[in-house]
Amino acid sequence: MSVALRLTCECTNRTYASRASLKTHQKSKIHLAWARNEEIKHLRVRLGKMEKDLAVLENDRKWLQTKVLKLMKHNEEQSTTVEQLRHLNQKLTQQIYALRKTKKVSQS
Ligand SMILES: [Zn+2]
Repeated sequence: MSVALRLTCECTNRTYASRASLKTHQKSKIHLAWARNEEIKHLRVRLGKMEKDLAVLENDRKWLQTKVLKLMKHNEEQSTTVEQLRHLNQKLTQQIYALRKTKKVSQS
């Protein structure tokens, strides 16, 4: 039974009497054309899967890009706040220094 299955070609579903006749059939134009069509079918399926994967990757890329831009903006805003606080601290330190100086002058 399994020998008979092995000697049957998928392209015609015909069973061949020997391996040699099956091999001869596999070199025929009909079989080669069928084999090429099968390969094209297989490649189309792979292409479809790759296009699907590519769409998923493209979505991931867009999501990551948005995330990076958000983080960069947040980082920019934070560094602006830090810069403002530094400036404010400097101003307050100068005012405190000036007040201390005034106090010292008035005490003496
Ligand atoms: Zn065949």
